[in-house]
Amino acid sequence: MNITPLCNHRSILGEGPVWDAANNAILWVDIMGCAIHVLDRQSNAFHSIETPSMIGSFALCIDGNIVAAIKEGFVFINRSTGKIDAIGNPEEALSNNRFNDGKTDPAGRFWAGSMSLTGETETGNLYMLDGKLNINKKIEKVSISNGLCWSEDLQYFYYIDTPTMEVVRYNYNNGNGEISNKTTVISIPGKEGYPDGMTMDSEGMLWIAHWEGWQVARWNPFTGKKIDSIHLPVSLVTSICFGGENMDEMYITSARVGLTDEQLTEQPLAGSSFIVQHSGYKGFGFAPFNTMHQ
Ligand code: CA
Repeated sequence: MNITPLCNHRSILGEGPVWDAANNAILWVDIMGCAIHVLDRQSNAFHSIETPSMIGSFALCIDGNIVAAIKEGFVFINRSTGKIDAIGNPEEALSNNRFNDGKTDPAGRFWAGSMSLTGETETGNLYMLDGKLNINKKIEKVSISNGLCWSEDLQYFYYIDTPTMEVVRYNYNNGNGEISNKTTVISIPGKEGYPDGMTMDSEGMLWIAHWEGWQVARWNPFTGKKIDSIHLPVSLVTSICFGGENMDEMYITSARVGLTDEQLTEQPLAGSSFIVQHSGYKGFGFAPFNTMHQ
């Protein structure tokens, strides 16, 4: 398996890769660097869109702009100018929280969750922003909201609250976004590292980035078993998505936050985003956020 850094850039807390098929580009966030990074896969041109505060996650909109969850709540970001337009902040009263991982569901609604800035447990929530810009709380009492994805057959929503070391599955209604019948499907042994970002491949298997685990691993949500893994040259592996013309490239983000000088010497690529070309697996694309913003 050929695992290479995408470019020389190193994020403090790289996260949330999004494949942009229309522009043949890969985008990711640096939560603590307060930016969305964009790499054009054709030209290898790299640029950044700065955000006014910590950005947890984002998605592409049908008009090509960006919807994001930043410290101040849900916003639109103009992709050309970086201009921010507020949508709403469900956590205005929770000033000790910040937004974390987020993604669009198959119907083009944007889901993003939150976490404490200071390590308190169960202060976070998961929200769904719909195309009419209504914000709905979906899950509460979350510690570190992560790892969301939906099955390609629209039956299931998978979710990770990182400190639980579990992947849970909900029945999912793509018509209205309702989730129900929470079931634990994977319990991850501590030696594997903490479960962080997650995506699904075309065979319905979950790919999970393992924080402090030096790996992305493939897990079967029907048996709970780990069935494959890819070792990375960095400990803090944060998230993964599929992309590329054939959706068979893996894009993997990482972090260097909190690493000691000694650790950074041992893993000089910490914070890089990586590509695995011809991974042997395929993913499926992201639905764009389904609203127009004037
Ligand atoms: Ca994460």
